Amino acid sequence: MTDFSLELNEDQLQVQKWVHDFAEGVIRPVAHEWDEREETPWPVIEEAAKVGLYSFDFIATCFADPTGLLMALVNEEMSWGDAGIALAIFGSTLAVAGIVANGTPEQQAEWIPQCFGTPDDLKLAAFGVSEPDAGSDVSSLKTRARYDQATDEWVLNGTKTWITNGGLANTHVIVASVDPELGSRGQASFVVPEGTPGIRQGQKFQKMGIRASHTAEVVLDDCRVPGRCLLGGKERLDARLARAREGKRSAGQAAMATFEASRPLVGAQAVGIARAATEYALEYAKQRRQFGRAIIENQGIAFKLADMRMRTDAARLLVWRAAWMAHTGKEFTAGEGSQSKLFAGETAVWVTEQAIQILGGYGYIREFPVERWHRDSKIYTIFEGTSEIQRLIIARAISGVHVN
Ligand SMILES: Cc1cc2nc3c(=O)[nH]c(=O)nc-3n(C[C@H](O)[C@H](O)[C@H](O)COP(=O)(O)OP(=O)(O)OC[C@H]3O[C@@H](n4cnc5c(N)ncnc54)[C@H](O)[C@@H]3O)c2cc1C
Repeated sequence: MTDFSLELNEDQLQVQKWVHDFAEGVIRPVAHEWDEREETPWPVIEEAAKVGLYSFDFIATCFADPTGLLMALVNEEMSWGDAGIALAIFGSTLAVAGIVANGTPEQQAEWIPQCFGTPDDLKLAAFGVSEPDAGSDVSSLKTRARYDQATDEWVLNGTKTWITNGGLANTHVIVASVDPELGSRGQASFVVPEGTPGIRQGQKFQKMGIRASHTAEVVLDDCRVPGRCLLGGKERLDARLARAREGKRSAGQAAMATFEASRPLVGAQAVGIARAATEYALEYAKQRRQFGRAIIENQGIAFKLADMRMRTDAARLLVWRAAWMAHTGKEFTAGEGSQSKLFAGETAVWVTEQAIQILGGYGYIREFPVERWHRDSKIYTIFEGTSEIQRLIIARAISGVHVN
């Protein structure tokens, strides 16, 4: 049996190199500037669209990879370049994941291309779940969706917060409660197409890291969308709500379905940061001389680097496993998606802190990238489910106990 292999195939290697070259040549040189400016890096997104990297076709090609690894490889390379800019470019894919997880094939065909637009007419998308009073506890969403039978429209009201591309996006995918008594089982996802009245950006947040990525509130005020904007369709929703009201198990909780699919990819981004920091610190440790020798000649430094490399590689293997399982339809029985995101996120935080230590004073100043990587890494223990929530998911999955 030679079926098992961790070797990437030719297609994967080619795409990986292409994205790496973009990250190295286009993203890295401007990473510091956009972090300082704390703005969406439109010229970089435009460049990504021009070369075909920010496009529906490219994302479709990545998701079509039969191993499921290609999108993870791409995310790692982009974040190796810069996580903030990578998120500015690929933030739209969160909304795409929401459409894929909950939409019918017709809805996917209609809405996904609109999340990207074309190089001449760029579009962005956003995925809005979190609210001021509902972060980890997504079952308590207050944003309401009410059906207006007379016009066959859904009317959305509420405030979403910390939304990547929020308000800036052309297309928003919004998770709202149709029947609050049913908690997360009473929720559904809605596409809010470009130009819809009643949706606007609230406060834009200033952040610790990933500062090239726009994060803002999204306010929905009697925002009316056509009936066809309900992802999955009304018939399916009504059947799901009826099952939930009867107390039967209902699959497909809107927000959760999206997060499960995207967690390994978020983990891959964290791996990219950890790898960048490991490489940089390694080179630095070979060059920097103290006490008449390179600092890497001290075990205190070399062993740190060994651990940084080992943990980064381990994180990547967990990411690959989860990406492969998700794509090939293997059921996550031990929270494998959560494992990958949790371990990669915490690894990135730890590795980047070690990198600062290895660079000493240079690690702490803004001209050197490691302090930025450390600031960037921290988000990976918070968004798409905090580390604590990932541990809950894993603990519940392996024990069958409803751990609180
Ligand atoms: C930069 C950025 C971008 C984001 N982008 C998006 C986006 O595009 N779309 C979107 O919908 N959301 C987005 N978010 C929101 C993000 O997903 C939430 O911040 C996250 O889910 C945590 O929610 P919270 O901040 O309300 O924390 P809380 O849920 O209030 O948690 C606070 C603390 O309590 C812990 N805690 C909570 N419950 C438990 C428990 N049961 N057991 C143990 N510990 C617990 C948490 O782990 C955490 O440490 C983004 C956030 C940021 C900062």
